[in-house]
Amino acid sequence: MASLSGAARTIIHRTIIHVDLDAFYCAVEEQRDPSLRGRAFAVGARAQDRGVVASCSYPARRCGVRSAMAMGLAQRLCPHLLVVPTRHATYRAVSAQVMDLLRSFTPQLEQLSIDEAFLDVTELVANNPALTGRSLALEIQRRVFEELGLSCSLGVASNKMVAKIATDCGKASVATGHSPQALCVVEPGREAEFLAPLPVSALWGVGPKLESRLKDLGIETIGALSKWPERDLMRRFGRHGADLSQHARGIDKREIVTERESKSISSETTFVQDVQEWEHLHEALQEQAQSVAKELQEQKLQATTVKIKLRWSDFSFSTRQTTLLSSTDAAPVIEEAATALLTRLWVGAEPVRLLGVGVSGLSTVRQLGLFDDNPDRDITTHEEPPTPKVIAHTEAEIGAHERRHQRLREAVALLEARFGSDVVHLGARKNERSL
Ligand SMILES: [Mg+2]
Repeated sequence: MASLSGAARTIIHRTIIHVDLDAFYCAVEEQRDPSLRGRAFAVGARAQDRGVVASCSYPARRCGVRSAMAMGLAQRLCPHLLVVPTRHATYRAVSAQVMDLLRSFTPQLEQLSIDEAFLDVTELVANNPALTGRSLALEIQRRVFEELGLSCSLGVASNKMVAKIATDCGKASVATGHSPQALCVVEPGREAEFLAPLPVSALWGVGPKLESRLKDLGIETIGALSKWPERDLMRRFGRHGADLSQHARGIDKREIVTERESKSISSETTFVQDVQEWEHLHEALQEQAQSVAKELQEQKLQATTVKIKLRWSDFSFSTRQTTLLSSTDAAPVIEEAATALLTRLWVGAEPVRLLGVGVSGLSTVRQLGLFDDNPDRDITTHEEPPTPKVIAHTEAEIGAHERRHQRLREAVALLEARFGSDVVHLGARKNERSL
């Protein structure tokens, strides 16, 4: 929940759009060489160079070729597969154009990978009665296509997790051999209902290991997971259990993290022996707050968010963060905020292996001089967008990937049968339709 500053009304739910370009590298290659259109091809290194598929065209997907598959296997599945070498610098440049276009809708953008981003359009929708998450998503899809010639799929929901899963479901429901250009909208309040028939592996953080542990308990769908007692999940899976239970019920409170906010300064201490005394922890925290403040001052930065991180003796992590009323570079302010967080997180029983204090939400210190024409400018960053992980999968893993995809398609069909038109809306850019 967020409230609009200065406005009387309170926003009762957020509106998050997840944007994912369809077969991004392939789409860029098709722009360079239009003769590739409609053909089965894969971008990546050749099989003899032990290459993997970085991206594959939709006609190639029809033969069973998938991203992250070994190129040799892809060529066995699809003997006429054309292999196009990757050109990362070009993809990064096109990606930057896409992100700029998306930022023209809202600066509240979190780039997830080279071809994926979340947009928080809550305020945009709240301030313009004519706009909805759906209408904005369609507008984004139209402009990305018309201005950059790229097709994308979108998910709209009240939080990041459900929006991303919505995109996946939208894509999975289109099996035409062309770019899906899907749009899937999950109405607020119906998140749990939307997730219920999907396999647990559709949730963030549920990998094959956890999936099989849940299966041992008889939990295969998100709906079954949502009904399992949270306390029992916490007992079995530690702190992750609480997240699992919330996510299964469609609850995800994570905010959009913009590039500027994701920049952080931190200081950490790993203790030689696990620490159980408050004085010892607090002493470390004071030193860390001072070191963070010193670095802020040296870089002429101020921060609005203070965060602490604890690593417990079982190697699991906990973090807590708080937003300050105004930005600071002062050690006592950071120390006070971090101490308050520590008292909430550490109740005096568990041994601590590592403690860290960090700050984010950075901005340059205002220079209120006569000759400073731009006192509010942001720090600029020149970081490259993260490149997608390409993992060489075994054939067994590819099989698992394919089964998961199949289950997702089945789940979408099930949703369709069970809820009719108003839980999920799927649509293509030109030919929007509702389930
Ligand atoms: Mg993509």
